[in-house]
Amino acid sequence: MLVIDAHNHLGIRPGARQTGAELVAKIDAVGVDKAVMFPFVEGNFSNEPIKEAFDQFPDRLIPFCAVNPWQPDAADEVRRCVVDWGFKGLKLHPTINGFHLSDPNLVDPLFRVAEELGIPIIVHGASDLYNSPPEFALMAARFPAVQLLMAHMGFFWSVDQAISFARQYPNLYLETSRAPIFEIQTAVRELGPDKVIWGTDSPFVDYEWEFKKMERATADHDGYAKIVGGNIARLLNL
Ligand SMILES: [Zn+2]
Repeated sequence: MLVIDAHNHLGIRPGARQTGAELVAKIDAVGVDKAVMFPFVEGNFSNEPIKEAFDQFPDRLIPFCAVNPWQPDAADEVRRCVVDWGFKGLKLHPTINGFHLSDPNLVDPLFRVAEELGIPIIVHGASDLYNSPPEFALMAARFPAVQLLMAHMGFFWSVDQAISFARQYPNLYLETSRAPIFEIQTAVRELGPDKVIWGTDSPFVDYEWEFKKMERATADHDGYAKIVGGNIARLLNL
């Protein structure tokens, strides 16, 4: 069984920092095999530190590209990350970068590149105006071949709506970082284990706790294995 954390940030920004070595130490301490990583997206950010960490820990860290869709070269940057550097996915943060996830002019070009390259997209999904569950539903419907992860699964006040859209769209998944365990249990019960994916959002968490909470997600061992690694491994063709 492969255990993979689908959501981590590397780099330095005011109030937070994490290096590749620090992330590997965290996953080693609790027995996690691999971790998806992408930059913090506040201010001017770059994917270079992600490439460096990937070069350093190619068997442990899985690189995702992050872009600000307002940057004119955003689609080119995604292509460069994937084609030239071997990155495996894309991360978007509608709230911090100030765009609606369903904005056709800003975001559709990025989804088209992801579809062409066959990479999944993880998007901050804490249910504010820019990233509410209906914004995810619009994109899941518009791009049925793109595998889309709703990070934080709508937070607890929008979990019911997130679950109903994840049921409706085969390509929409709920990612559990910083979501309470009651809501995660509800999602697993309603959707089954195939649509729920574990992530932590480190460094913004107590890492061990964010992993341990998943032991209560389901009593089904095979389902647990899918949630904490099997599902994201399948989406990434690992
Ligand atoms: Zn995050």
